Amino acid sequence: MLNKILKDAVTVAIGGHIRPDGDCVGSCMGLYQYIKDNYKDKRADVYLEEIPDAYRCLKGTEEIRHEIPKDTEYDLFICLDCGDKDRLGFSVPLFERAKQTYCIDHHISNEGFAGDSYIVPDASSTSELIYDLMDEECISLDTATALYLGIVHDTGVFQYSCAAPSTFRAAAKLLEKGVDAPKLIQDTYYEKTYAQNQILGRTLLESILFMDKACIASYITKKTMDFYGVDVKDLDGIVSQLRTTKGVEVAIFMYELETNVYKVSLRSKERVDVSRIAKYFGGGGHKKAAGLTMRGTYYDVLNNLSEQIELQL
Ligand code: AMP
Ligand code: MN
Ligand code: MN
Repeated sequence: MLNKILKDAVTVAIGGHIRPDGDCVGSCMGLYQYIKDNYKDKRADVYLEEIPDAYRCLKGTEEIRHEIPKDTEYDLFICLDCGDKDRLGFSVPLFERAKQTYCIDHHISNEGFAGDSYIVPDASSTSELIYDLMDEECISLDTATALYLGIVHDTGVFQYSCAAPSTFRAAAKLLEKGVDAPKLIQDTYYEKTYAQNQILGRTLLESILFMDKACIASYITKKTMDFYGVDVKDLDGIVSQLRTTKGVEVAIFMYELETNVYKVSLRSKERVDVSRIAKYFGGGGHKKAAGLTMRGTYYDVLNNLSEQIELQL
């Protein structure tokens, strides 16, 4: 229960992983709003990198802090949806300075880096976990909207295998709070800018099939991103689209962070545990969705990944 987690803290920092996604933003904003609504004697602040524009519809996102204050020490740092300490990014020093730390997460690769943690690898999302820890009666519409968004994004609108009966029950309870689900899903999940659709199209066009068509891969260079006027926040959903390809077991999408350094996203359908592959190369994630950073040319990276994928096929 959150009461217990928050018991000894007056000041609370909430942080999530770098390049925040829907579940990261949803769980952080949901918890932030919940504390503001129900614990008038406590003070909470959220620390996250710049969030995708579509998520700005959530209450309180304009109060998100992108830099840490010098020498400030929180009673409690709660990290959400973050599988290892480094992925907190700029807020790592704040985490290290906090009197207590607590991690709520669902990454199978999470080894429990915080003082205390609640890690459920089978959970659909951190947002669902946070919902479980909340007192039903104390959830406002704003909190419900944030958590609903998180669940929607990490389940691909309730389609992935991580969406369990408990996920639907949580979503139903959140809907009862008045969440405008169709609008939220359309505005934050399906709607794309023209440039986002262009970069998606380009990536699909340039994708290649290999390993007897069991794998699909594509990538984007910095130059291409500049050409279309997009940044990394505009690339969400591309790897999922690659995975929809009939007959494919693993989808690989990479974008260039700097010359010969790639952020890699892996998705699988059934047989391959991509979290193991990601972890092998220093990344992490879930069985069917994982990520990592790799050095080398696009083809070096593909070769290295292929060897590990082949071991599982
Ligand atoms: P992504 O491909 O970035 O959408 O990430 C898929 C899943 O893997 C998400 O749950 C991420 O939080 C996680 N993930 C991505 N990159 C890393 C990494 N370098 N280390 C650990 N986990 C990661
Ligand atoms: Mn996430
Ligand atoms: Mn998540």
